[in-house]
Amino acid sequence: MQETDGAAAAVGGVPVAELARCYGTPLYAYDAEIIRQRCRDLAAWDTVRFAQKACSNLAVLNLVRQEGVVVDAVSAGEIHRALAAGYMPHAAPGNGEDGLPPVHPIVYTADIFDRDSLAAVASHGIHVNCGSADMLDQLAERMPGAAVTLRVNPGFGHGHSQKTNTGGEGSKHGIWHEDIPQVLQRAEWAGLMVSGLHMHIGSGSDLAHLAEVAGAVERIAADVGRSLTTISAGGGLPVPYRPDETHADLGGYFQLWDATRKRLEDRFGHRIRLEIEPGRYLTAEAGSLVTEVRATKRMGSKRYVLVDAGFNTLARPVLYGSYHPIRVVAADGRPAAGEPQAVVVGGPLCESGDIFTQEEGGFVTSRPLPPAAVGDFLVLDVAGAYGFVMASNYNSKPLPAEVLVDGGQHRLVRARQTSDDLIRGETV
Ligand SMILES: *Cc1c(COP(=O)(O)O)cnc(C)c1O
Repeated sequence: MQETDGAAAAVGGVPVAELARCYGTPLYAYDAEIIRQRCRDLAAWDTVRFAQKACSNLAVLNLVRQEGVVVDAVSAGEIHRALAAGYMPHAAPGNGEDGLPPVHPIVYTADIFDRDSLAAVASHGIHVNCGSADMLDQLAERMPGAAVTLRVNPGFGHGHSQKTNTGGEGSKHGIWHEDIPQVLQRAEWAGLMVSGLHMHIGSGSDLAHLAEVAGAVERIAADVGRSLTTISAGGGLPVPYRPDETHADLGGYFQLWDATRKRLEDRFGHRIRLEIEPGRYLTAEAGSLVTEVRATKRMGSKRYVLVDAGFNTLARPVLYGSYHPIRVVAADGRPAAGEPQAVVVGGPLCESGDIFTQEEGGFVTSRPLPPAAVGDFLVLDVAGAYGFVMASNYNSKPLPAEVLVDGGQHRLVRARQTSDDLIRGETV
C-alpha cells in the first residue's frame, strides 16, 4: 500500500526527486541511520563482523566501523577497501579487560587463496578463515605459526535460493565436517594454531535452520580443544523484503549461541569470543535504487514500465527471482496517486530477462503500481545488500552513483562512471 505522506517519496527524509536532480539516475541511496540502527540491534554479540561483500562502499565501511563493527573480506580487493576505510590490519596483542581474546579487525574468509589475496594477507598479517585444507599449507609457508579459523561445512545448509545455500554436499564452501580431525592434524604439522571455528550455511535462512549450526559448532569445538578462543555464527540473518514479512527474533537466536559459548567456556576454562557475521542484515533495508521511467507500453494484454536501471544495476531479481518493494514517485516529487494497475517493470538491456518483477526460474510477473509516466521515478527498496556490489558494465552501461543520506543531508560517496571509465585499459 502506498503511503500518502512525504516519507513515501523520500529516502532518509530527502525527497527522491531532489536526489535524482542532484545525482541523476539510476542511483543507489543509503540511509545512514538505518545502517546504524541495524548495527545496534546486534549489540549483544561480542563482535559484529560485517560481510562487506553485501555493500562495500568505503563510506558504508567507515560508518559501520564507527559503530564498532569489524569486517570480513573475501578478496584482496576487499582487504584493500577495509584498510582504505580505516580498519587496522590486525588485532592489538593481548586480551581485553573482559578476558576475551583480541578481535581481528579484518578476517579473510574464502575457500581459496588466489595469488593476490595470499600476498595481501601475508603482507598485512590478516587473520584467515580457511575454507579448504590446502589453504593451511599455503598460509604456513608465508605466515609461519599463524593462528587460523576453520570454516566448517556442517553437512547441511539453507538459503533463500539454491544459489545462496552454502552448506551440505552441494556447496563448495568450508571444510567437510567429517574431515575436521585430519585437517586439525594437518594444521598442527603446518605449525598453525586453530583459534577459531566458523560456519555460514546460507543467506536469507530462517533462524530455525541457522540454530542447528550452534550444535554443530559445539560438537566440532570438542575436537579443536583448548586453542579455540572464537566461534562465529556466520551470517544469513533474514530481512523483510515483502510487505507481509517481519524481522526475526534475534534475541532468541543470541541466547542460543550464548548458551553454546558458555558451555564451551566451562569446558575449556577460558573466555570464548562470540561473533556474528551479517551482510544483508546491516545494509539491505537502508538502500534504495532510484530509477527514472523512460517508456511505458503495452504488449497485448500486458502493460510494461521501462526504467533506466536493469540487471546491470540490480541483479537480484534475475539471479534469484528476488522481490523488491517498488514505490512510484511522480516527476514533481510527490508520491504517485491513482488506482494501482498491474505492470511488468523492466530495464534497458538487450535481453528479455531484464525484468525486475520476476520469480525464481525467470517467470515474469506483474505488480500493482500507481500509474507511472515517462519522467516519474520508480524506487526499488531493500536494495542496500547485493545491489550495487553486483552491478556490472553489461551493455557498456556505467556503474551507477552511490549516495549516503544522513540527518537530512546527502553526499555522493561514489561517482557514476563515465564513458571513459568504460574503456579504461583497453587498446585497439
Ligand atoms: C555472504 C557471507 C556472509 C553474509 O551473508 P548474509 O546473508 O548477507 O548475511 C557471511 N559470511 C560469509 C562467509 C559469507 O560468505
